[in-house]
Amino acid sequence: MKAIYTFGNGQAEGRADMRDLLGGKGANLAEMNLIGVPVPPGFTITTEICRLYNQKGREAVVEMIKEDVKKSVEHIEKLTGNKFNDPTNPQLVSVRSGAPVSMPGMMDTVLNLGINDAVAETLAQKSGNPRFAWDSYRRFVQMYGDVVLGMKPTNKTDIDPFEAIIEEVKEQKGVKFDTDLDVEDLKELVKRFKAAVKENTGKDFPTDAYDQLWGAIYAVFDSWNNDRAILYRRMNQIPEEYGTAVNVQAMVYGNMGNNSATGVCFSRDAATGENLFNGEYLINAQGEDVVAGVRTPQQIMTEGSRRWAKLQGISEQERAAKYPSLEESMPECAKQLVDIQHKLEEHYHDMQDMEFTIQDGKLWLLQTRNGKRTGAAMVKIAMDLLREGAIDEKTVIKRMEPGKLDELLHPVFDKAAVKTAKVMAKGLPASPGAATGQIVFFADDAEEWASRKKKVIMVRLETSPEDLRGMSVAQGILTARGGMTSHAAVVARGMGKCCVSGAGEIKVDYKARTVEMGGKTYKEGDWISINGSTGEVYDGLVATVDADLSGDFAAVMNLAEKYSKMDVYTNADSPRDASVARKLGAHGIGLCRTEHMFFEGDRIKAMREMIIAPDEASRRIALAKLLPLQRGDFEGIFEAMDGYEVTIRLLDPPLHEFVPHQLETMRELAEQTGRTLEEVKLVCDGLEEFNPMLGHRGCRLGNTYPEITEMQARAIIEAALNVKAKGVDVHPKIMVPLIGVKNEIQMQADIINETAQKVFAERGDTVAYKVGTMIEIPRAALVADQIAEVVDFFSFGTNDLTQMTFGYSRDDAGKFLAIYKNLGILKVDPFEVLDQEGVGQLVEMATRKGRATKPELNVGICGEHGGEPSSVKFCASLGMNYVSCSPYRVPIARLAAAQAAVEAE
Ligand code: ADP
Ligand code: MG
Ligand code: MG
Repeated sequence: MKAIYTFGNGQAEGRADMRDLLGGKGANLAEMNLIGVPVPPGFTITTEICRLYNQKGREAVVEMIKEDVKKSVEHIEKLTGNKFNDPTNPQLVSVRSGAPVSMPGMMDTVLNLGINDAVAETLAQKSGNPRFAWDSYRRFVQMYGDVVLGMKPTNKTDIDPFEAIIEEVKEQKGVKFDTDLDVEDLKELVKRFKAAVKENTGKDFPTDAYDQLWGAIYAVFDSWNNDRAILYRRMNQIPEEYGTAVNVQAMVYGNMGNNSATGVCFSRDAATGENLFNGEYLINAQGEDVVAGVRTPQQIMTEGSRRWAKLQGISEQERAAKYPSLEESMPECAKQLVDIQHKLEEHYHDMQDMEFTIQDGKLWLLQTRNGKRTGAAMVKIAMDLLREGAIDEKTVIKRMEPGKLDELLHPVFDKAAVKTAKVMAKGLPASPGAATGQIVFFADDAEEWASRKKKVIMVRLETSPEDLRGMSVAQGILTARGGMTSHAAVVARGMGKCCVSGAGEIKVDYKARTVEMGGKTYKEGDWISINGSTGEVYDGLVATVDADLSGDFAAVMNLAEKYSKMDVYTNADSPRDASVARKLGAHGIGLCRTEHMFFEGDRIKAMREMIIAPDEASRRIALAKLLPLQRGDFEGIFEAMDGYEVTIRLLDPPLHEFVPHQLETMRELAEQTGRTLEEVKLVCDGLEEFNPMLGHRGCRLGNTYPEITEMQARAIIEAALNVKAKGVDVHPKIMVPLIGVKNEIQMQADIINETAQKVFAERGDTVAYKVGTMIEIPRAALVADQIAEVVDFFSFGTNDLTQMTFGYSRDDAGKFLAIYKNLGILKVDPFEVLDQEGVGQLVEMATRKGRATKPELNVGICGEHGGEPSSVKFCASLGMNYVSCSPYRVPIARLAAAQAAVEAE
């Protein structure tokens, strides 16, 4: 087994397509070498070794790769002419993690590794820049102390222990920026840092370069299992078993003086998708300085710099003097960078997110990857690349993350409301969108408030990976520090969450839990609104309107239409929902629940009258009152779905859900029906069940009270004939719930068909209709071949099917599912993501058996899973005719269906 792959000087043992083995970072470092992009030499320890490390432990792995690591270090030495662990001619390296799937900020990097007192002296002499040498040293002790030795803040209001020491020293000196510290201060920092490490860990700080290197390698492997990484993997469904690679790379120094710099850039705008090369840099800085928000980063391109200054209210003069672009400050490097970003985008055929460092006027690339982007940018960039001829239509479809389309459907601020809104502060438009919520300052508070259904905006100085959970539940994020490439900005764009970053004028006080802006002090819980598209922060609530669905969004949807083989229907109970879904591209209704219709206004009275009726005759009287109401509802929905199928499910829930539970309402019902309170109470209590989900419900109602089915069938057929007479192209499908036995559906189908014939005879007109069943009880799946003899279609009710297959009550599972996920017993919530392994077998078998009986059997799914991409793809792989989902998930399902078709080719 080859454990290590080297790269450098235009050569590499790895390639871009080896990301599973080398991680994304390592694979692309290799590839950049191969296509002639300047990259410092280094090597990658494979993810396979990480897996072995987790299985066999540290010792076994060190034994295995010790020699290889040494040889690979020599490979770096040969190319740079320096020596690792040699104070006379020292080579420093960075140790970087890199998983097959990019996990931003999830695993920590250590820079300047290999340094100690003697090395620092040599570096100072050789470079003639002692400040650089000691700055590198203090950074190393800080990073190594944090990442490898575990020196972290102890509670949430504390700052990082090293930052605290820096603040102390800065205060003693009376300076504001790190760059204001001189060599003596930096030496002092190193001393205090080491003392703090000793005090905290009881151990001396390691001075031997190889000791340092192994410590860092272990730390990278260990970081695969830190809480942040585990959380990120869960949130993004990244397999636990991937493992991370370790990259060891020769250092290049962006902190060597004013002719050195470091930065981050994107070949297109990650927020809007605009085809505009953009990015940020800092002179005389290293590594994460740009994203950490220590100093205000500058823009790479002059155009971007001017836009930035305008947003910040900075004059052109001040901008050019204080915050020049890279184009202005280092024109040669900027030009080279522009060429490289073009080259990389052309090579990868996608928007690139790049890291670079300039050491004494020479440009080096340190990373490239396909950039994270918002849903809007995802759509625009893909369509632009298609028009530019860089990718084809199928690639556009494959590139989409269906779930992200959701962002484009979200409301935006109402234009008029924004005009009158009071702007309290302004920051950078880090991630577009409109968010309104109550202020919270900490991630755990955000989670806690959100669990109480509160809408929150997280306000912070800056965010860090620890804030991930809070960010994911917040409506939006507002930070005081950090630029467009700050942690908050990058993560928010990845999540499609509205974010305003770097609003420098706001004053956040964590201890007091207040934020001051525009002359007003906001407390925790106060309402604000943030505009991620303009960077504006508004006072209070600002009204929103629906999103615009034309343009590139429509174009992508058209492509989805062109390539998908499976149709997408919607679950809709009202004409309004039906027409929303239709606008979003639904081609029919896969589930129209009738029970909601019984709750509106006075209808519940007739329904209750029907339920407590003592005999069939009085039941029929009550049902006759319900008939016209139902018929009217169906007419509305048929009209809204002109030309498309509408699947109406007969009454499903247990009757107990409809009866009054309070004495007062029972008394009313008694009066209304001319019965005694005792009688009414007796009936209502009699309907109570130990386990209503498995009780007297679904087709069991229809079979014990056939007149209910009769009324509903009549309402549907009459409604169909009525709208047909008006010229509507109507296609009713009548669906019977909760079938487990063939006779159950046979009886229901007989009632429906007899009723239809009766209505046809009365009206002297007919309409084509279908009769089908839900498959939601495991037994129905097992005997699907028999059931198919009776019906025209199956619709998998995967909510109930999941409930009954797992034996988890949907209404009670909340108590243990979260714990199960944390323990890793379940990877995902099976009510969210269809369990293909178990429940999927039933779905597959029932489809197969049903079609064996009746090849033309129409098959679909109407559970929540119908809008979840992986489940949609599964349904497509079984050859289903359609999936049905809630209206706003229709575009997601359409895309997933198209992806299934393209990926199957
Ligand atoms: P992440 O995965 O969190 O982005 P990286 O390993 O990419 O972590 O790096 C952290 C920072 O250190 C980045 O700014 C990167 O450009 C910088 N960096 C990494 N290796 C080197 C190196 N050999 N020389 C200079 N800077 C480096
Ligand atoms: Mg990086
Ligand atoms: Mg059901």
